[in-house]
Formats: sequence, C-alpha cells, structure tokens
Amino acid sequence: MIRHRLFIDGEWQEAESGQWYDIVNPATGETAAVAPYGDERDAEKAADAAHRAFADWAKTPAPVRADILMRIYRGMLDRAEDIARAITAEMGKPIREARGEVGIAAEYVRWNAEEARRIYGYTIPSQVPHKRLHTLRQPVGPVAAITPWNFPISMVTRKVAPALAAGCTVVFKPASQSPGAAAIFFQIAAEAGLPPGVLNLVTGSASRITGQWLADRRIRKITFTGSTEIGKQLARGAADQMKRVSMELGGHAPFIVFEDADLDLAVEGAIASKFRNNGQTCICANRIYVQKSVKEAFVQKLKARVEALRIGDGMDEAVDLGPLVDQAAVRKVEEHVRDAVAKGARVVTGGRRLDEPPFAKGCFYAPTVLDEADETMLISREETFGPVAPVYAFETEEEVIRRANDTVYGLAAYFYTNDLSRAARVSEALEYGMVGVNDPVMTTVQGPFGGVKESGVGREGGPDSLHDFLETKFVSTVIRI
Ligand code: NAP
Repeated sequence: MIRHRLFIDGEWQEAESGQWYDIVNPATGETAAVAPYGDERDAEKAADAAHRAFADWAKTPAPVRADILMRIYRGMLDRAEDIARAITAEMGKPIREARGEVGIAAEYVRWNAEEARRIYGYTIPSQVPHKRLHTLRQPVGPVAAITPWNFPISMVTRKVAPALAAGCTVVFKPASQSPGAAAIFFQIAAEAGLPPGVLNLVTGSASRITGQWLADRRIRKITFTGSTEIGKQLARGAADQMKRVSMELGGHAPFIVFEDADLDLAVEGAIASKFRNNGQTCICANRIYVQKSVKEAFVQKLKARVEALRIGDGMDEAVDLGPLVDQAAVRKVEEHVRDAVAKGARVVTGGRRLDEPPFAKGCFYAPTVLDEADETMLISREETFGPVAPVYAFETEEEVIRRANDTVYGLAAYFYTNDLSRAARVSEALEYGMVGVNDPVMTTVQGPFGGVKESGVGREGGPDSLHDFLETKFVSTVIRI
C-alpha cells in the first residue's frame, strides 16, 4: 500500500492527528493509497517553516533559483511515468492524458526557471534634479497554494514554479482525491536541492488547513484553483488581512460553430474540448451552439465520433475515457441529464450511468450528446463536469454572442469559423479570459491562463507568470548634486 506523507521543513512526516484517509481508485473502487489527515497543527508547522525559510530564499540569486528549478524540471522528466501512473490510479484519467499532463507540468517549471532571471524593475526619470527614482520587484512572501483533483500535477507546478522563481516560499495543499503526483513532485524538489522549508506539503482537512493559513499573518498570498464557491470563501477570508489572491475558478465555456466553419474540424474540436479528462476540466465546452443550417449535420457527425470513444480503466493504453472522479460526480451528471430531458432535450447517444461489467465497481457514465438544449436547463448554468455535450441551435452572430456571454462565468470560449472578419469580431465580443478560434486545446505555458467575472482573478503562465508573486516597491532617493 502506498502511504503518502506530509513534507514540512525538509522532513517527511505523519500528521499530528496520527490519522490517515483512503484514496480510492475510481475505476476499480479499490484503495489506491492512504494519506495523512493533517489539520491546523500541521498547517501551522508548515507556515513556521515557510516563514523561517523565506528570508534566505528571497535573497538567493535568481540564477541559483533558476538552476534548482531546472533540476526539478529534469527530475520530472526522469520520473514522468511514475507521476502519470499516480494520477491515473488516484483520479482516473486515461494514462495517455496523464502523460500529456506531466509534460505540460514540467514545461511550467522550465518556463518559470527561465523567467526567474528576468525580474526587472524600472529606473524612472525624476521630476526634479536632486532625486533618483526606481522600482524593485520583491517576492510577496510565503504563499499558500491550494489545488483541485482534475489536474493533479499541472496545477501544482503552475503555482509552485512561479512562486519559487519569484523568491516566495510555499505551503501547499493538494486535493484530497489525488495527492500522489504532488508527493512525487516534492520528492523531486527535495532531491534537486531546494532548501528545507521552502516548499511544504500538507494533506488532510481542507477547511482546517486553509483556515489556519488564512488566519496566519505571515502567509501573504493565497493562490487557489478550484470551484467558484470555495474560491469566494477563501477570497472573503483573505480580505481580513488584505492577503493577495489569485483565483482560478470554475467556467461554463460556450463552443460556437458558425455555418461557414469546417464542420469536421469543429466536430474533432468538440470531442477534444468536451471529452478530454471525461469533461472534468474548467475550460471544457459546456454549451455547444451550432448555427441552424448545419446543426443536424453536426449532431450526426458528433454522434458517430462519440460512439467510437473507448471507455474503461484509464490504465488501459487504448482507453479514451476513464471513470469520473467519484460517485458524487456521477450523480451530478445524472441529475443534469435528467433535468435537461425533463425540459425537452433529446438524448442522441449515451444518457446513462454504466454499471454493468466491466464498469460495475467504478464511476462510469456513458459519453452523451443531447440535442435541443436550451437555457432553462441546469446544464446551461452549472458546470456539469462530466461527459455530456448539449447542443443548442442559433440563427445569428449577434444572438449567439449574447447567449454565450449570458453567464456568471468567463473563463474560456471557443468558436469555429473560416471568416477572418468574424474571427476578429467574435474574439473581441466574447467576455472570457481565453478564446480559442478553431482551437479546442489552447492551454500552453506561453499563454496567460485565467478568467474574468466569477471565473477568477489573476493569470497563470505566460509572459507575466511571476507578476502575481511579486510586489513592486518604489524607491525615491534624494541625492546631493
Ligand atoms: P473544490 O471543491 O473547490 O476543491 C479545490 C480545492 O479546495 C481542494 O484542494 C479542496 O480540498 C479545497 N477545499 C474544499 N473545500 C474547502 C474549504 N471549505 N476551505 C478550503 N479549501 C477547500 O474544487 P474541485 O472539485 O476539487 O475542482 C473542480 C473545480 O475546479 C471546478 O469548478 C473547476 O472548474 C475548477 N478548476 C478551475 C481551473 C482554472 O484554472 N480556472 C482549473 C482546474 C479546475 P479537498 O480536496 O480536501 O476537499
């Protein structure tokens, strides 16, 4: 049995409570690992360590920090298969997707290692002859990072790598369902020469651990990826001490297919966007709007592609869709489909839980296409986080932009067109942090990732990836002339 540990001040350890919890493989129902059930005592120890380590780490020259990050990057490549298998065993995604996730996770480390060397301030022309003005960019301080289960390694490195590059120390809590990939990452980081206390891992009670960090004045920033509901709670808590926050929250992505689009490309895009990670991504297509003249053809092509998807234990190399993360996730998908059908949607394919062998012990739901969806349905408002593709008909560009923007979320949006002018107009009109034009998979380390409205604040990755981990200090010096 794999036993994860906490990692505090450079030491692997058990939780103060002495308790453990089980991590269940959602494909088989078997226990994949156990992890320590930490609480505020462990969180405080981690914050103590991060606070102690901060002064030296912040002063460590940027090229030295960059070299350590590059060693972590290479360590991740060496152990890529171990990390991928931990992901699949704990949260179920197909092993091929898990390997892809490890690849991009390592790239976040490399990107931020490179960016560490480019933390520039400004020299500013003064308004008077006897003053010299400049800015310093300094790390914000110890940071608390909290991540979800759907990307158990790339969400870790997307936060931890820029924090370390900027000179921050980190206390980190992964999602309860999938801490295994993070645990391997911490081993790699320790072996790469990261000083004790710079990076600390605590698993266990989410509310008690993060509650402790919110109350601790030494923690200067909260960086969170997860649901909008929890993100709001954390942002309210952070406001008490005006801690900095970065919030990568939920989404409800429109995926628009105009009649001038390449329909086959759009169908492939819908498969990639909707069914990757079994629909359990914050940027996956939630509402597929298809212009009326091509809707029937689109639905038929989508049906054929969805029916060809292979479902099973993610460890099987041939599988396209693994299980959902747990039974609660299956129940949520069932509820959304039931509600949509009751309100007039038509099941084109799928539409049911898979509970016959070989799926009986896992959390499986058949990949589903719903036609004739409309905005009265739950599925049009809430994240389904499952393999359900609802298709909506629309008539005009103006209408579909209005409907696409009619949501509290603003993370990702997609559209397919071959009209250059339309591509420019629609990208500008969509109220989202990221827009894919004929591109269903836009996440890349070079691009700023993040949302507007209730999808969050801040951006991760891209040219400004260190920005949210740095303070700008203005220095004004009077000199004799
Ligand atoms: P979640 O329930 O919000 O959990 C995310 C993290 O918050 C986990 O570590 C969780 O710990 C912790 N947490 C839960 N309750 C908490 C509380 N009361 N106080 C403090 N921390 C708490 O979200 P999820 O189900 O894991 O992830 C799915 C959500 O993440 C979706 O909404 C998805 O859209 C969003 N997401 C957003 C992005 C993005 O970049 N915008 C990327 C990926 C996912 P436990 O696991 O221990 O409960």
